[in-house]
Amino acid sequence: MTTVPRLTITQDNEFWFEAAREGRLLIQRCADCGHLRHPPGPACPQCRSFEWDTVEASRQARLHSWTVLHHPKDDAFTYPLAVGLVDLPEGARLVADIAGVDHDQLHIGMELEVGFAEHAHGETLPQLRLPGTEAR
Ligand SMILES: [Zn+2]
Repeated sequence: MTTVPRLTITQDNEFWFEAAREGRLLIQRCADCGHLRHPPGPACPQCRSFEWDTVEASRQARLHSWTVLHHPKDDAFTYPLAVGLVDLPEGARLVADIAGVDHDQLHIGMELEVGFAEHAHGETLPQLRLPGTEAR
């Protein structure tokens, strides 16, 4: 049984989760100053504008940092669980679990790809993988 909480879907982030279910990675962009932001939010942290649109990311990613979790264990994940922070070439960052990569291979700057996987309560969330591979 999982203790992972359900996602909180709001009118500010619903578009992002809908795109994820379609296998598309969107990044919110300020319509006034062009600043990219993730996770989605109601206002631009740079200019405070409430106007925004989106850009569809290439799903290319470069590993900025990572950690390997051993505890606390939850049935929703397989342990040890690698979680990475990646730089997207579009100019935003994303956090997601890393699947199908030996943890000894992980290194800063390695190229990864953003895929999608179903998580604890049936949500579709990003998952980092080696480019051109499916998760194991
Ligand atoms: Zn702005």
